[in-house]
Amino acid sequence: MAEAYDFRAVERAWQERWEREGIYRAVDPSSPSDKKYYVLEMLPYPSGDLHVGHAKNYTLGDAIARTMRMQGYDVLHPMGWDAFGLPAENAAIQRGIDPNVWTESNIENMQRQVRLMGTSYDWTREIATCKPDYYRWNQWLFLRLYEAGLAYKREAPVNWCPHDATVLANEQVVDGKCWRCGSVVERRKLSQWFLKITDYADRLLNDIETLDGWPERTRVMQRNWIGRSEGVQFSFGIEQSEARIDVFTTRVDTVFGVTFLAVAPEHPVVATISELVSKKHAAEIAAFAESLTSKSELERTSLMEKTGLFTGAYAVNPLSHEKVPIWVTNYVLAEYGTGAVMGVPAHDERDFDFAHRHGLPIAQVIVPKGADTEAPLEAAYCDEGKLIASGDFSGMSSARARAAIAERLQSMGLGGTKVNFKLRDWLVSRQRYWGTPIPIVYCEKCGEQPVPDDQLPVVLPKDVPITGEGSPLARDAAFINTTCPKCSGPARRESDTMDTFFESSWYYLRYLDPKNGIAPWAIDKADAWMNVDQYVGGAEHAVLHLLYSRFFYKFFHDQGWVGGRDEPFERLFHQGMVLYNGEKMSKSRGNVIGIDETAERFGVDAMRLLLLYVTPPEDTSDWTDEGIIGRVRMLNRLWRACEPHFAHARETPLRELPPTTDGAEKALVRAVHIAAKSSLDETLSRRFHYNATIAKFDEYLNALTTVGKERPDAAAVRYAVHALPVLIAPFAPHVADELWSKMGYATSVHTERYLDVDERALELDEMTLVVQVNGKLRARITLPSGTEEATAVAAALANPSVQQHIEGKDIRKQVYVPGKLLNIVV
Ligand SMILES: [Zn+2]
Ligand SMILES: [Zn+2]
Repeated sequence: MAEAYDFRAVERAWQERWEREGIYRAVDPSSPSDKKYYVLEMLPYPSGDLHVGHAKNYTLGDAIARTMRMQGYDVLHPMGWDAFGLPAENAAIQRGIDPNVWTESNIENMQRQVRLMGTSYDWTREIATCKPDYYRWNQWLFLRLYEAGLAYKREAPVNWCPHDATVLANEQVVDGKCWRCGSVVERRKLSQWFLKITDYADRLLNDIETLDGWPERTRVMQRNWIGRSEGVQFSFGIEQSEARIDVFTTRVDTVFGVTFLAVAPEHPVVATISELVSKKHAAEIAAFAESLTSKSELERTSLMEKTGLFTGAYAVNPLSHEKVPIWVTNYVLAEYGTGAVMGVPAHDERDFDFAHRHGLPIAQVIVPKGADTEAPLEAAYCDEGKLIASGDFSGMSSARARAAIAERLQSMGLGGTKVNFKLRDWLVSRQRYWGTPIPIVYCEKCGEQPVPDDQLPVVLPKDVPITGEGSPLARDAAFINTTCPKCSGPARRESDTMDTFFESSWYYLRYLDPKNGIAPWAIDKADAWMNVDQYVGGAEHAVLHLLYSRFFYKFFHDQGWVGGRDEPFERLFHQGMVLYNGEKMSKSRGNVIGIDETAERFGVDAMRLLLLYVTPPEDTSDWTDEGIIGRVRMLNRLWRACEPHFAHARETPLRELPPTTDGAEKALVRAVHIAAKSSLDETLSRRFHYNATIAKFDEYLNALTTVGKERPDAAAVRYAVHALPVLIAPFAPHVADELWSKMGYATSVHTERYLDVDERALELDEMTLVVQVNGKLRARITLPSGTEEATAVAAALANPSVQQHIEGKDIRKQVYVPGKLLNIVV
C-alpha cells in the first residue's frame, strides 16, 4: 500500500518555486487584445488574520485566473492592500501602536497567508494605498476633479459617527447607522469636501442597463440608490412676501388637494418667515429647529413620530389661489429635493396621518375611475384616478392632468417638469489622521489654493499624537503651517484626510502600471488591460465602492485617460459567506477557522477543494470537519491511483485519445473529458460552479482507481494519469505540480495548455433505439453507437416483441431516425 500524500513536504516548496520562476507574472499584451483576461478580487483591508471565509474569495478568483492562463490568455491577477482607514487609528488610540507600524505588520502577515493559499498573484504589481507613491496619485486625481469643478467644499448638515468621531458619506450610513461600527449616526453642520457624483447621476443610472454581467440584485440596489424620479417642480408664493417656496412632486395631479406646506426647519425660507410672523411664533420655530439639530436622518424620517409646528405664515396655491398654512416639520430634510413638500392629506398616507394629528383639512381631488361623487375618506387614496374639484382640470385622468398642469405652471413661469435624483454628492473629507491629506492650502490673501502638482505628495506626517479627539493633523503645527503656492505668504494646510473609498475607486488601474512615477497609469496600459473582465468580491459593496468606482471611471473616460467602454468592471461576482457547522465565524464565538492551522493540518489543496466543492460559490457554504477530511481523502486517493503509473504515464500522449475498444477503458477516458468539459464550461460561461467540476473529478478518480487496478498497463489508464495534473491544476495547484514532476517533467504544469475537450471521448458507447410498429412502441433495443441502418433494422426485426406484431404481415414502409427511432408500417 502506498504512503499517503505528504502535502507538508511539497506545498511550501512549490510555492517558493513558482515565486522564484515568476510564472504568474503578467506580461502586458502588445496591443488591445481579446486574448487578455483581467481577473480581480476586491483589495482587502489589512485587518490582521485571515480565515477560510476570506480564502473562498481568493481561491475562486485564483481558479478562474489559472484556468484562463492555461487557456492561453494573457492573465492579469494582482493583489494589494486597502491600507488607510480607521482600525489602524483605533489601534493607535487603544494600544499606542503607530498606525503605520500596525498596518505594515498586518500587511506582512496577510501577504504571507495569501501566498500560503497557493494563489497565482503577480506580486511584482502589489500596491498598498497608504504608501506615498500611491496616495500621491490620490492627491493628483483630487486636483483634477477640483479643476473640473467636481470637488468642492461647503458647509452642510452631515452624518457624524460619534464613536468614530468623523463624518460619513451617505453611502456609509446603513439604516441610520455607521457602516463600520453600527453607532446611530448624528447630524452636524460642518464645512466639508464633496465630490459631485450627482453630475453623473444620469449616466450612472442609464449604464446600469449595460452591465449584464452583474448580479441583478446589485443593479437594482444601484438603481434605487440613484433614485431617479420624474415630476414637476414649481413654487408657492408666500403671503405678504416676495419670497417663494419651491416644491417637487411626482403627483402634481393632486395640487388642488394641497392643505398645507411642510418645510424643513433648516430651509433658508424659514428665516424670512420668522420675520413675517409674531415674536412668539418666531421663538417657537427657533426652538423647534434647535431640538432637531443633532437628530439623525433615520430618527427624523423613520423613528420619530412625524410632528411639526405651524409657523403662523401662509403660502398661496398658484392654481387654486387658496391660502395654505406653512408648517415646519421634523420629517422634511433640507438637503433632499427642495427641502419643502406640498401636503396632500387625501392622497398621501404620511400627509393623511399628519393632517389627522394636527387637525388639518383633508380635500379629496382624485376619485377612482367610474366613481363620480366623493365619499368620506377613511384612509388616503393614493392610486391614480379622475380629478374632481380641480378647476379646469376636473374630469381629466391623473396622467392627462399631470401633463396639463405642468404645462400651465410653465406658461405661468412658475415651474415645469423636472427629473430628481435621490443620489447626493459624495462627502469625502474625514477628520482623521490615517488617510490621504487633501492637497489644498488656505491663504489669507488668496483664499483656497490647490497644491501644485510638482509639490505632491503632501506627505502624511509621522509621529502625530492620536488621541481620538479632534483632527490630529489640525493640531500638528509643522504640518499645518505652510506657504501659499501663489503669493508665498503664510498659509495653512487643509487638515482633513480623504475617505478611504477614494483610494479604492481607482486602484484597479494602478495595478496596470504600479511603478509609474509621472502619471497614475499610462494610457496604453489601460488600453491593453481594461476593462476588468471578472471582478470578485462581497455583496456589501453593492452601492459604495462599486458606485464610486463607476463614477471615477466615467470621469477618467471623459478626460481621455481610459479608452473603450466607460465602465470599469465588465462582470461581477459576489461570493457567498463561509459558515462553520452552520454558524457565522467570529472571534467571540471562538469558531474561526484560520488559514495557518488549516494549511498545517489538512493542506492548502484540500482547503481549496473544499471551498470550491461544497456549494455554488455565490451561496453560503458550510465548513465542516468531515468536509475537509473528505477532501484530504480525495487527495490521498488521487495520489495512490497515480503513483504506480509515474514511470510510464508520460509515454501515452496527452493531446490525442488513447487507442482502446474496451468499455471500462472508454468510460475512464470519458470521465477525463467530462471533468475537462465541466471545468472549461464553468469558467467560460462564467458561472463558476466548480462544485460540479470537483464532483466530476471524484468520478474520474473512482474510474481511475478501478480500471487502474485491473489493467495497470492500459493506455487509457496512463492517459488518465497523464491528464490529471493538467486538469486539476487550477483547483489543487500543488498536488498537480507534484504529480507532473513525478512523471518526469522539469517545468511547472501551470505553464501547460489546458486539455481540449474531445467530443469523441464524450460520446456514449451505446445507443437506445425505439422501435415502433404502426406508430406504437413495441421495443427498446440497445446497439453500439454508430450502427448502420441495415444492421439496426435487422436487429429490430429479430426482436421477439417486434416479431409478434409483424408476423404474417407485409412490411410497407420503414422510417428510420438514426440512432433514435425505427417505425415499421405493416
Ligand atoms: Zn462608526
Ligand atoms: Zn496667497
